[in-house]
Amino acid sequence: MYFRPMPHHTSLIAMLVAGFVLAFVLGALANRLRLSPLVGYLLAGIVAGPYTPGFVGDAEIAPQLAEIGVILLMFGVGLHFSLRDLLSVRGIAIPGAVAQITVATTLGWGLALLMGWGHMAGLVFGFSLATASTVVLLRAMEERRLLDTRRGRIAVGWLIVEDIACVVALVLIPALAGALGDGDASAGEIGIALLFTFLKVGAFVAFMLLVGRRVIPWLLERIAGTGSRELFTLCVLAIAMGVALGSAELFGVSFALGAFFAGMLLNESEFSSQAAQDSMPMRDAFAVLFFVSVGMLFDPIILFDHPWQVVATTLIILVGKSAAAYGIVRLFGHSRSTALTISTSLAQIGEFAFIIAGLGLALRLLPPEGLSLVLAGSLISIMLNPLLFMLLDRWQAREDARADRERPPEPPVVPVDIEGHAIVVGYGRVGAQLATLLRHRGVPIVVIEDDADLVRRAREDGFTTVRGNAANPRVMEEAAPDRAKLAVFAIPQALEAGEAIERLKAANPGITALARAHSDRQVEHLLAHGADAAVLAERELAYSLAEMIMASPAYRPPRTA
Ligand code: AMP
Repeated sequence: MYFRPMPHHTSLIAMLVAGFVLAFVLGALANRLRLSPLVGYLLAGIVAGPYTPGFVGDAEIAPQLAEIGVILLMFGVGLHFSLRDLLSVRGIAIPGAVAQITVATTLGWGLALLMGWGHMAGLVFGFSLATASTVVLLRAMEERRLLDTRRGRIAVGWLIVEDIACVVALVLIPALAGALGDGDASAGEIGIALLFTFLKVGAFVAFMLLVGRRVIPWLLERIAGTGSRELFTLCVLAIAMGVALGSAELFGVSFALGAFFAGMLLNESEFSSQAAQDSMPMRDAFAVLFFVSVGMLFDPIILFDHPWQVVATTLIILVGKSAAAYGIVRLFGHSRSTALTISTSLAQIGEFAFIIAGLGLALRLLPPEGLSLVLAGSLISIMLNPLLFMLLDRWQAREDARADRERPPEPPVVPVDIEGHAIVVGYGRVGAQLATLLRHRGVPIVVIEDDADLVRRAREDGFTTVRGNAANPRVMEEAAPDRAKLAVFAIPQALEAGEAIERLKAANPGITALARAHSDRQVEHLLAHGADAAVLAERELAYSLAEMIMASPAYRPPRTA
């Protein structure tokens, strides 16, 4: 028998395996400690980096994997980019974000000058401290059920402006770096370089709007028509990667800008949510590798060698940015509570900081300590963010109590005296019909739904609706399960439903819990977790079809004489 010798070039596999395993273990641990899993991913990178003992990931492969992560992250940003969300809060979000970015960049720049770095290093460093992490912000908002509030919408709109600023910075930084290459560029040379960049970007944008806008949705529609899910997913990935790399080759714009545009064009297509869903697992996986590879660049020695710089960087993120945001929001006449929520949610930095600082490092604009400082600031600020929110929650509770004393309370979404109602979880294809049918029978209904658009639809349809994930105990509690008679889980995720049912039954043993399942295993899982009954959707579909067929004259069995 012949065995091929083990190949030597296993570093890609080693990097992938170490990246995923370490990130998973540390991410799960961080989650357990109620920290953002991002912290875990970055720590995984530090463990896999050259500055700590043990496994050392390949320093050439890691950045390439990270680049794929950036492409997919920016593609996702484009896919979710919503002009409507931004426009609804433009009055405050645009000036607010611009002012805050300016303040943070100036502070970072000042610190860089104090540390003896050049102006360009200062600008890149300052700008990386200016933008908050979408991942961290959305999670914090969702946990506190703020996405639906005006405060939440302002914070999200603010973030969108930061996203746009990042996209612009990703275009401008390389151009400026090129112009300043030898360090003695004149204003005219810089102007020409910038003009040239704008022309390139303009040509790219024009091409995308004229050609891409037609071709991309057309292609996706064709592929969706083939009915092959695999081809559809592949098509989405091919578009994301192809446009990113193609635009870099043809127009010399960054991968990130190309991917962002590809996402934005798909955003308009009717298949956008399907595209977002299909590319999500891949995006998540590579985003994790991106965070790991950023962590690998972190040299922990900075904490000991330059502790004051670390403290100053962190203070810019935690205090400088927040104070600026707070001041601006107050200036626009919003309440203290809104101002504090927005400044707390923005008092951290994440993926964009790494993308910008990473680019600065690659272009040799930023010294390696710059990236380590950004990372240290990010790690500390992300870790402290839940703590800040806890303080905010306490303050808010006191404030609410005070306000309650002063004026009568506003009615909550779910009437306090509701009783004997049915909780319908999910307002999709199944839940929406079910809720309507039950209402016709006079059953009081409370809907729980995660998706903003469907929440809006449920409310328009006249249902009392709680927004959020039913697996989150606080969300469930809002639907008054202790006084409900029935809970129906009309969602396809049986694992999530199982956990929620278990908790529900512990809180109210008398409640009847019904659930939707898509396999025998799911039925078993749901029953084992306390469901009173689980309906296998596909079986019901088969029965209904069979019944329909039997009722049709064409298939009526021949009459026997
Ligand atoms: P469909 O498969 O069309 O019936 O849609 C299921 C609906 O359930 C979708 O609108 C989801 O947003 C919603 N959904 C899924 N999981 C949850 C959850 N854990 N909590 C609340 N809503 C959910």
